[in-house]
Amino acid sequence: MTPLAAEIAALIRQNGPIGIDRYMALCLGHPVHGYYRTRDPLGAQGDFTTAPEISQMFGELIGAWAAYVYGLLGHPDPLVLMELGPGRGTLMADALRALRAAAPGLPVAPHLVETSPVLQAAQARTLAGTGAVWHESPETLPEGPAILLANEFFDCLPVLQFVRRPGGWHARQVGLDPQGGFTFGLAPEPTPGIEAAGPEGALLSVPSAGLDLIRAFAQRVRTLGGVLLILDYGHARLGFGDTLQAMARHGFADPLEAPGEADLTHHVDFAALARAAAGAGAKVHGPVDQGDFLLSLGLRQRAERLKARATADQAAGIDAAVARLTDPGATGMGSLFKVLAVSGPDLGPLPGFPAS
Ligand code: SAH
Repeated sequence: MTPLAAEIAALIRQNGPIGIDRYMALCLGHPVHGYYRTRDPLGAQGDFTTAPEISQMFGELIGAWAAYVYGLLGHPDPLVLMELGPGRGTLMADALRALRAAAPGLPVAPHLVETSPVLQAAQARTLAGTGAVWHESPETLPEGPAILLANEFFDCLPVLQFVRRPGGWHARQVGLDPQGGFTFGLAPEPTPGIEAAGPEGALLSVPSAGLDLIRAFAQRVRTLGGVLLILDYGHARLGFGDTLQAMARHGFADPLEAPGEADLTHHVDFAALARAAAGAGAKVHGPVDQGDFLLSLGLRQRAERLKARATADQAAGIDAAVARLTDPGATGMGSLFKVLAVSGPDLGPLPGFPAS
């Protein structure tokens, strides 16, 4: 049993089963044993690989996108460039390089929201000399027009889950079985106020933390100006079904097996995020497939420029990265991954999104 499993089991014995959101929050963010508090999960040696770790082109295209958006925002001084959950800092480093090349002398202040001490240290190494500032939560970010980036961040924010029974929607919980192992169960009483219609047995996920966060950012970009760019895996329209998943060593794992030792994520419900942002008075761009987004920002042209000064091996690596980032298969990064932007009501059209 992991130390975190022992702690969660004690909690359940004392107070009864806990919600899926609480379980996720403990697995990922427990101050001592949380998955993200204790390790760098990225890369070949870790549990999963993200787009910025596949190729520098990903961050560079986002940097060029940010340079254009900086113009749309009226050249704010300074430009607050913020990232949620920056991993190793690779996306921010690549984006800053491209941003500075596209807009020399641009007064840019990188702000990073990161709770993991291990990853903060990795980011500090990658971003040495850039003047980066760290935050534990978005609440301490400076005011003013901002470009806000979130790659593979919303998928690790806690969700609530409900299952349809004849009397209504019952919250899904984590409890203990008679042998003391973790097991999924349902709250005995339905949760009032859930209006979704679904057949008996349907599973409904409500991205509670993501909705709170996007409403706060929608409010921010509406009043202070700016854009939030979200890149993640998920669905433009989410149906019923369980997308809670655990990943360890690049494969799927049982979410209840070793709490704190595996990444625990869910597919992002882009439709719900878009509705929440629009409801808070912001303008919504997309979602579009990540492959289409990157190609329309010039991924192929960027690859050709890099290949012109690459060895044959490097050129093959660049081609492989383009293929992987735009893979249109059902689980490929080109189509399973989506891009959504949220801005003030008068901004746009934004590069990479069809004009609405
Ligand atoms: N964006 C990076 C890393 C994705 S992994 C990349 O694409 O490579 C998720 C990141 O979010 C990690 O940096 C993790 O430490 C951070 N994170 C997870 N939950 C968080 C929270 N509640 N607040 C701030 N950062 C969080």
